[in-house]
Amino acid sequence: MDFRLTEDQELLRRSVREFAETEIRPHVREWDEAQHFPTELVPKLASLGLLGIQFSEEYGGAAMSGIEYCICIEELARVDPAVALSVAAHNGLCSAHIAMFGTDAQKRTYLAPLARGEKIGAWGLTESTSGSDAAGMRTTAVRAGGCWVLNGSKAFTTHGRVGDVFVAMAVTDRTAGRKGISAFIIEKGTPGMTPGKKEDKLGMRASDTSEVLFESCRIPSDQLLGAEGEGFVHTMQVLDAGRIGIAALAVGLAQGAYEAALGYARERKAFGRTISQFQAIQWKLADNATRIEAARLLTYRAAYLKDRGHRTTLESAMAKLYASEIAVKAADDCVQIHGGYGFVKDYPAEKFFRDVMLTTIGEGTSEIQRLVIARQLLSR
Ligand SMILES: Cc1cc2nc3c(=O)[nH]c(=O)nc-3n(C[C@H](O)[C@H](O)[C@H](O)COP(=O)(O)OP(=O)(O)OC[C@H]3O[C@@H](n4cnc5c(N)ncnc54)[C@H](O)[C@@H]3O)c2cc1C
Repeated sequence: MDFRLTEDQELLRRSVREFAETEIRPHVREWDEAQHFPTELVPKLASLGLLGIQFSEEYGGAAMSGIEYCICIEELARVDPAVALSVAAHNGLCSAHIAMFGTDAQKRTYLAPLARGEKIGAWGLTESTSGSDAAGMRTTAVRAGGCWVLNGSKAFTTHGRVGDVFVAMAVTDRTAGRKGISAFIIEKGTPGMTPGKKEDKLGMRASDTSEVLFESCRIPSDQLLGAEGEGFVHTMQVLDAGRIGIAALAVGLAQGAYEAALGYARERKAFGRTISQFQAIQWKLADNATRIEAARLLTYRAAYLKDRGHRTTLESAMAKLYASEIAVKAADDCVQIHGGYGFVKDYPAEKFFRDVMLTTIGEGTSEIQRLVIARQLLSR
């Protein structure tokens, strides 16, 4: 085993960090307050390869490994978790689903423009009445002539309003349960598909989230993604990989919160000394630094195994569960170490505190991760 990153990976970390510091940090508060999705950032993200991180060069991707994907997401989340969420959803959900299960023609049509940032990806599984119980979805797709006709709606879709390429899951055979769900690619502008309500969110406000509505939305039959009836099984595989990305996001967010707390503790004085000299503060810093390293190792292990072709249902769920829960603690301690200044918007603590709650919810809640882990353990 070798726990060190390669020189190229260290270089990647430095370049994404520098990019995040110069191109993102100055705008974090403004984008958050305005709930502004930074379209102006998209070409810059693309030029660094961050919009096609893992898919092959043949389709315009940067062909990075899973560990390198984690490094990219971590470094974005360290500065702005909302940007990291958008990059993770674009790469790890929409693009990944097409890269993993699309035909060669679908990959050629969609992946290159997604990687170049000419198109933004969105992925719709959740509905207003089915999140954790995703197979309980109501959206339907029915064959009509040479087309599929979609009816229903998706909730909480990242890039539901700004997205150009949508992958959406729909019921194609109600009698077949999970095997009656299929995936489809729908392009922005297709008649019958419209964005619904834009969500006014607690955190991750610069990442666009909205409903997507389908009303007699007719798409050509070759927009079926994967075979009919395989959509749900494929979705679970997409999520096995996607959860590693959310774990990396949580690690990066926790790192950002920890660094903010450390910096503040070194400066802030009380009782004639810096608060970093109080053991109560030192223990918080020590515990967070330790938990962040543990979460990073779990996340990289899942990515390492995925890179080698292993199924990582268990490892991805463990990494996502642990990283998101320690990130909540890191953000909480960051606010506490800042005292009253942790409660106001002049410091980054309060934003980390709001953003972090998505990490224990998105791509499967902590409760669902525990369920997945337990099922895996009991099935061995
Ligand atoms: C900002 C944001 C972005 C998102 N982006 C996307 C996206 O791009 N695409 C997409 O498809 N979805 C997206 N989601 C949806 C997200 O994946 C769901 O919100 C999440 O899976 C939870 O589903 P739910 O909200 O319906 O909660 P519910 O499933 O209703 O859960 C409510 C509570 O019940 C618990 N619970 C449910 N079932 C069980 C059980 N069996 N055992 C124990 N506890 C249980 C849950 O853990 C939770 O605490 C996004 C959500 C947010 C907030």
